[in-house]
Amino acid sequence: MRVPHSQILCRQIVKEQCRQGHSQARRCHQPPLPCKQCEREAVLAEEKRQKEFELEQQREAQQTAHDLRLKDLEYKISVQKQIVLDLNNALRCFGRKRKT
Ligand SMILES: [Zn+2]
Ligand SMILES: [Zn+2]
Repeated sequence: MRVPHSQILCRQIVKEQCRQGHSQARRCHQPPLPCKQCEREAVLAEEKRQKEFELEQQREAQQTAHDLRLKDLEYKISVQKQIVLDLNNALRCFGRKRKT
C-alpha cells in the first residue's frame, strides 16, 4: 500500500512563488506558509495608511482651527466696522443738533 504523499514527511525542498512573485522555500511536507515578504509589505502598507490617516486628521484639524480663526477675525472686523458706523452716525446726529 502506498503512503499518500501528504502523510509522509517528504523532506524535499520546494520553491514556491506567491501571487506577488516573491519566492520562498519550504519542505514539501510543511503546509504552505503565508508569504513573509507579503506580510511585511502588508504591515508597512498598513503603517503607511495609519500615518497618512493621522496626517489627514491633523490637516483637517488645522483647517478647522484656521477657519474658526478666520471667522473670529471676520466677526471682530464686522464689530469694529459697526462701532465706526455707530460713531459716524452719532457724530452726524451731534453735528445736526449743533447746527440747529
Ligand atoms: Zn514531496
Ligand atoms: Zn509574497
